[in-house]
Amino acid sequence: MKFQPKASHFINGAYVEDTNGALIDVIYPATGEVIARLHSATPDIVNQALNSTKNAQAEWAALTGTERGRILRRAADIMRERNRELSILETHDTGKPLQETLVADATSGADALEYFGGLAASLTGEHIPLGGGDFVYTIREALGVCVGIGAWNYPTQIACWKGAPALACGNTMVFKPSETTPLSALQVAEILIEAGAPKGVYNVIQGYGDVGASLVTDPRVAKVSLTGSVPTGRKVYAAAADGMKHVTMELGGKSPMIVFDDADIENAVSGAILGNFYSSGQVCSNGTRVFVQKGIKEAFLKRLSERLENAIIGDPLDENVNFGPMVSENQLNIALSYVEKGKAEGARLVYGGTRIEGDGYYMQPTVFADVADDMSIAREEIFGPVMSVLDFDTEQEVLARANDTEFGLAAGVFTNDLTRAHRIVAGFEAGTCYINTYNLAPVEAPFGGSKMSGVGRENSKLAINHFSEMKTVYVSMNDVAAPY
Ligand code: NDP
Repeated sequence: MKFQPKASHFINGAYVEDTNGALIDVIYPATGEVIARLHSATPDIVNQALNSTKNAQAEWAALTGTERGRILRRAADIMRERNRELSILETHDTGKPLQETLVADATSGADALEYFGGLAASLTGEHIPLGGGDFVYTIREALGVCVGIGAWNYPTQIACWKGAPALACGNTMVFKPSETTPLSALQVAEILIEAGAPKGVYNVIQGYGDVGASLVTDPRVAKVSLTGSVPTGRKVYAAAADGMKHVTMELGGKSPMIVFDDADIENAVSGAILGNFYSSGQVCSNGTRVFVQKGIKEAFLKRLSERLENAIIGDPLDENVNFGPMVSENQLNIALSYVEKGKAEGARLVYGGTRIEGDGYYMQPTVFADVADDMSIAREEIFGPVMSVLDFDTEQEVLARANDTEFGLAAGVFTNDLTRAHRIVAGFEAGTCYINTYNLAPVEAPFGGSKMSGVGRENSKLAINHFSEMKTVYVSMNDVAAPY
């Protein structure tokens, strides 16, 4: 096994195995080869992980923010030094081209560790004067044990986007990656220990949904942060509510991208390519409903097809390749089933649409035109390289149609009309919006969804509020005025 870790789980600073857990085969999506074999966590492993995380929390929270921050920043440095090695692992875990993983995975994880490491020392409460000498001060406190549950598209990034703010605030975390991509979170856990984090501060256990569910309902857990689909989000949110736990939900989307006829077509095509085909379309915030104003529709489609001819599809370890396989056969079949639905419901297939023969889980980047708002490919999240192009006439019409979805993760507009761009963005019902670009998610900016796409925000200073709470202390400087 090429990428067999020492054991399946990382608890209390060490690799731990329990072979009684269900088998998890880790498959390299480019070849179908099994590259590691892990075991799902048994109840005993879940218990060990939660105990260790709980025991470590008070000591971790008692460090100064400067000390916690130093460890996180050291971990960021180690991740950057090992970027190539971590990227090769990520490429094997996910199938994403090395060209992408070298710049978007361990590097964005390191950004989160560095950013929240930098913030850790400045996390404070406030002083509120009340007149007559009385005042209130607030103490920002950690929530306690946090659970992170990840999707399979950005495993390293998700492990760090959740772990870094949690740890900066003095929480500890049990992280459960998706069983499809279980390898890189173990590296994050190891690196944190190497950077000086006390044992148990960040534990990783493997498992299917049932393991995630047992973590969410455990009374030792104060907060759950999930990246996943809306159906899973609904279940996890409901389970967390029973214990009145804090939640962050980063869920799916069916985001609109609007291209007006005054836009720079080349940029709009670039945005549509990035927002539909990066990571073979397996990105939650993708702008998969591309609304193109009627006058430029054919020009847009022509240029898009020409540019797609330049995609280099193949071995993800070849750094020239920029379009890799999908993460699993299952995900490939889901995407292909939507191609069939698109055809059956009357959309016009203008590019791609078929599986690429071979052992890997490859399909062509796919574009449908003449898509109607009520077609399945325009309403449901596909999570694959399938773009729907829809036509529109007016600004008012397109905004209403763009918002006519249960999702609200992201939205973008391409136009050279400055005031229209801001008007459209003000009208978007989405958490993360773009003007003349698409899909950038720097750690400095809040990221998250509205409507069914989520609750709370990751990244930026806002994430701190989702991993800490305020204790209010009223201080009286005067006698107590009781009525009798
Ligand atoms: P899933 O919702 O299937 O799974 C997400 C995670 O939750 C997995 O680790 C899964 O484990 C776990 N899980 C499943 N059921 C439960 C349960 N009842 N209780 C606790 N945990 C559970 O999503 P995918 O992994 O298929 O990822 C794709 C989805 O993630 C897409 O909808 C996408 O839009 C969304 N996503 C959102 C992002 C965002 O930031 N908004 C970013 C990336 C992806 P297991 O895999 O073992 O079932």
